[in-house]
Amino acid sequence: MEIVFHLPVKNAEPWIHAMAAALPEARVWPWTSAQTTRQAEYAVVWAPPPELFTAQRRLKAVFNIGAGVDGVMAVPNLPKGVPVVRLNDAGMASQMAEYVCHALIRHTRGFDVYDAQQHARQWKKCPPVDRGMFPVGVMGLGSIGAKVAEAVSSFGYPTFGWALSPKSLRGVSVFSGHDRLDEFLHAVRVLVCVLPLTPMTEGILNAANLSKLKPQGYLINVARGGHLVEEDLLALLDDGTLAGATLDVMREEPLPAGHPFWGHPKITMTPHISAITLREQSATQIAEKIRALERGEAVNGVVDFERGY
Ligand code: NAP
Repeated sequence: MEIVFHLPVKNAEPWIHAMAAALPEARVWPWTSAQTTRQAEYAVVWAPPPELFTAQRRLKAVFNIGAGVDGVMAVPNLPKGVPVVRLNDAGMASQMAEYVCHALIRHTRGFDVYDAQQHARQWKKCPPVDRGMFPVGVMGLGSIGAKVAEAVSSFGYPTFGWALSPKSLRGVSVFSGHDRLDEFLHAVRVLVCVLPLTPMTEGILNAANLSKLKPQGYLINVARGGHLVEEDLLALLDDGTLAGATLDVMREEPLPAGHPFWGHPKITMTPHISAITLREQSATQIAEKIRALERGEAVNGVVDFERGY
């Protein structure tokens, strides 16, 4: 079995070794634009160049080395009829749950205030937290969002979730479908975005929607920068509608040097690390799915081209 591999990093060797170790029956080789004749059955890729798909004409499936498929779905010449398969969790859901709970607790318990007080050499206690005052809403309840919502709920915050289809999650009141978005937003003070970026969700974190949160709302975006209308967030922070935001993802990454988010007192930022793709777990999952496909079995994480995720 032949597997072509593409990851736009300086040294992809450790990844190629991990894939080869997880699937010893396969030959795993890196894509180069000079290599145009060797054909593979499977492509394992992140941010693949279109030329890869022009050259590879016998692919049975394309594996995306990540949960979000907006990058691979934007490639104009994805082979027709060939399934695109994404990672399901693969160790990312726990990281994301940690990140979101950290951001939530930092805000509600006032750890940002204590940071500032330490710098000012002040010894002062914040009032105790009434978690009932901070209902949390998680947009997107898939492999990652469901775990995030359950983790938030386990700390005793009233927890709401929003997805396309109905589902049952412990401690989470779920709203499903676009016609229930307003109801969901009105119930929430801290909004967490774990949606895939699709034509339906692009710009969903906009002034109209963010203004529906309870007073002094707070935004945590760990999904994609394209979900957020940046000027709208800045306006709502500056006029006091929103209390703050924690952002892990940006429209342009790395964030340009002069961007207003850098120095904004109400924004906490990280460089797209809320869930880092774990090499061994990802390679093992991809290998298991390739073996299942070879046996003619169905696998989870196959992208629905209509929905875009
Ligand atoms: P997933 O399993 O595909 O789940 C997506 C969820 O979003 C599902 O619950 C789906 O509803 C819901 N959804 C999709 N479109 C919707 C819409 N238009 N309206 C309402 N709900 C909608 O994806 P995942 O593995 O949890 O990953 C989610 C996203 O997290 C990824 O796409 C990626 O953008 C982001 N991510 C970010 C990082 C990072 O480091 N920052 C790391 C990993 C992932 P249904 O359940 O009804 O289908």
